[in-house]
Amino acid sequence: MSTIRQLYAYLNERTDEMVEMITQLAAVESPSSDGAAVNRCVDLLANILARQGASLTRLRAGNSGDNLVACFGGGPGQVLLLGHADTVWASGTLAKMPVRQEGDRLYGPGVYDMKGGLVMGIYAIKALQALGQKPPMSIEFLITSDEEIGSPNSRELIEDRAKESKAAIVLEPAAMPLAAIKTSRKGLGAFQLKIRGRAAHAGVEPEKGISALEELAHQIMYLHSLTDYQVGTTVNVGVAHGGTRSNVVAAEAGAEIDLRVATKEEGERLTNLILHLQPHLQGIELEVSGGLNRPPFERTKGVVQLYQQAKTLAAEIGVELAEMGTGGGSDGNFTMAVGTATLDGAGPVGEGAHAVHEHLLIPHLAQRAAIVAGMIRQLGN
Ligand SMILES: [Zn+2]
Repeated sequence: MSTIRQLYAYLNERTDEMVEMITQLAAVESPSSDGAAVNRCVDLLANILARQGASLTRLRAGNSGDNLVACFGGGPGQVLLLGHADTVWASGTLAKMPVRQEGDRLYGPGVYDMKGGLVMGIYAIKALQALGQKPPMSIEFLITSDEEIGSPNSRELIEDRAKESKAAIVLEPAAMPLAAIKTSRKGLGAFQLKIRGRAAHAGVEPEKGISALEELAHQIMYLHSLTDYQVGTTVNVGVAHGGTRSNVVAAEAGAEIDLRVATKEEGERLTNLILHLQPHLQGIELEVSGGLNRPPFERTKGVVQLYQQAKTLAAEIGVELAEMGTGGGSDGNFTMAVGTATLDGAGPVGEGAHAVHEHLLIPHLAQRAAIVAGMIRQLGN
C-alpha cells in the first residue's frame, strides 16, 4: 500500500477521536478580543501537543491570546503548519449554538474555522509519527491567536517562522463549493476617513455651513467608482456615519473603507489614491488613515507546484482536489509575502464560517488530514 493510503487508513480509523478533540476544543470558547479566553484554548492545545512530543514555545502577544510554536524536531530545515486558535464567536455563543453532531455534520462555533483544521494538523503529525513516516526536516506547528482580527500581534512571528520554512501549509477551511485548495487570495486593506466641515442652522443660515455629509456622499461615489472587477479590485464603504440632527448642517462625518486587490501593484496604486483623497467641497478637511494589512497572495509557480503535488496525493486516495481563488485573506497572505510557497485552504470541508450554520463534514476529515500528512512528508524529505 502506498504511504498516502496507509496514512489515510490510519486517520480514517481515528475519525471519531478527531471529532471528539474538535468538540473538546470548540467547548472552550476563544473570541479574538478576549485574550484570557483564547489562552484557555491555547492551554488545551499546548497539553495535546506536548503529550505528542512537541517542544513548545509560548509567546505573549499584546492583549491577544498567546501564540504557540510547537516543534517536532529533526532538521535542518522545516515545514510550517499554520493555524489559529481564536474564533469570531463571542463568549456565551455555545449556549445558543452548541457543538453537536447531526449525521455527517459537526456543528458549532469555530469547528470549521478552524479548530477542525488544528485537529487535522495534530492528527496528520500523529499519523506520520505512528507509521514511522516523519520526514527528516522539522515540522513546526504555529498556532496564533488573533487571525480573525487581522493578526496584528502575530504577523511578525508568522513572517519570521515562514522565512525559516521550506513551505507553509495553512489549515484554513477549504474553498467551497469545490472543497478546493486556495491558490490565490486577494490583498486586503482597511481605511478610516474623517471629514470635518462646518456646522450651521439648516434654516436660518445654511449658506454658512459646509456639509461633511454632502462631502461624504461625493467621496463614497468616488471610492466605489474605483472598483474594477476585471482586474480584481474592489473598494467598499461598509460603514458611514455623520451629522447630529436634521436641522443642522453636518460638521462631521466619517466612513470605513474596505479594499481588496489581486496584485501588489494594484495594492500600492489604490492605497496611494485612498490616502490622498481630495476634498470635493471648498473648506472641507479630510483625514485618511489605514493601509494594506494583508498583501495579496498571488498564484505563483511555487503555489501551483504545491497544489499539483497535493492533487496527485489526493488522487491516490480517490479525492479530486480542485483549486480556487478567494477574496478573503488569511495568514497565508503573510507567508506568501515573504516568499514561502504556501498551500492554503488545506483544512476542513464544510460551510458557514462566521455564520450560525457553521459546520464541517466529518467524512472529509481523514482524507484532508491524510493529504496534509502526505504533503508534510514529501516537503520534509
Ligand atoms: Zn480562519
